[in-house]
Amino acid sequence: GAGSGGYGAQQGYSEERSSARRVADHYSARSNQTLEERENSPIIHLKKLNNWIKSVLIQLYARPGDCVLDLACGKGGDLIKWDKARVGYYVGVDIAEGSIKDCMTRYNGDTDQQRRKKFSFPARLICTDCYEARLDEYLYEDAPFDICSCQFALHYSWSTEARARQALANVSALLRPGGIFIGTMPDANVIIKRLRESEGLEFGNSVYWISFGEEYAEKKFPASRPFGIKYKFHLEDAVDCPEWVVPFHLFKLLAEEYDLELVLMKNFHEFVHEYLQKPEFTELMRRLGALGDGRQDQGTLSQDEWEVSYLYLAFVLRKRGQPPTQ
Ligand code: SAM
Repeated sequence: GAGSGGYGAQQGYSEERSSARRVADHYSARSNQTLEERENSPIIHLKKLNNWIKSVLIQLYARPGDCVLDLACGKGGDLIKWDKARVGYYVGVDIAEGSIKDCMTRYNGDTDQQRRKKFSFPARLICTDCYEARLDEYLYEDAPFDICSCQFALHYSWSTEARARQALANVSALLRPGGIFIGTMPDANVIIKRLRESEGLEFGNSVYWISFGEEYAEKKFPASRPFGIKYKFHLEDAVDCPEWVVPFHLFKLLAEEYDLELVLMKNFHEFVHEYLQKPEFTELMRRLGALGDGRQDQGTLSQDEWEVSYLYLAFVLRKRGQPPTQ
């Protein structure tokens, strides 16, 4: 736990709380964009690509009627994807009050932008820190879930061992045996590789930069201290906050302690190359427009956006045990 290995000092703890707060405040302050603002974003094609990847994961693993737990659900950008998968129930949890409000608005479909019919599933939204709280205490009436999703957010749990463990303990406690945990997060291998290739402690391109503090001047990351490896991440028109490195092999081992076994892990580039070959997902990509008309390898996604997508990976874990028979 947080008390072992010298990470649990009181000072470190409160610093920790304020880091989580900074992340929350950052996301809370970003309110819904208009459609026009969105289309003019310098990373519009990257956003579309990310949506395609999340849609593919959801289509591959969600089944009609599923009970869904969306950790760090944000503004509910995935609600439509879950609706298309015809899930039966949705619980979204996020630390940012502003995002939960936007998510509620989107679910209720009462903004000009969303002239769509209501979602076909009931939903519950909760504002709390998913990596601090024991979610089973909030959700004992809703559990067990068939599928849990944590998109672009699990790395915020790796600030301390206690938080990384609470995140996995929550997923494990709430999934049914055989239940699926899907997610996306930064690919630490790529980030550390880029850092080592760069001259200083910063690297990036026209749409992003990552900056490590002087404490990492040697660019060494001993496996004995895998939590709390912080960097600053800036993505044009999207993110500007502290993040933490998640060494994937250690994440896999930690997940196993919570009965979550690795099913799949792919860097986004590999993910795109593999699933874009499947006709149903090619068609989805064409509709989303991330890669333009699909005749070129990268289409309308800029080289710099394509480089950002290389910083991420998708994972699928499965909760040990046999699914209950009906
Ligand atoms: N999952 C959404 C998506 O894919 O559109 C949002 C992703 S956004 C990059 C990261 C989200 O993680 C933000 O909404 C932020 O508020 C949330 N988050 C960060 N730390 C969190 C925590 N400790 N507990 C719950 N949510 C958290």
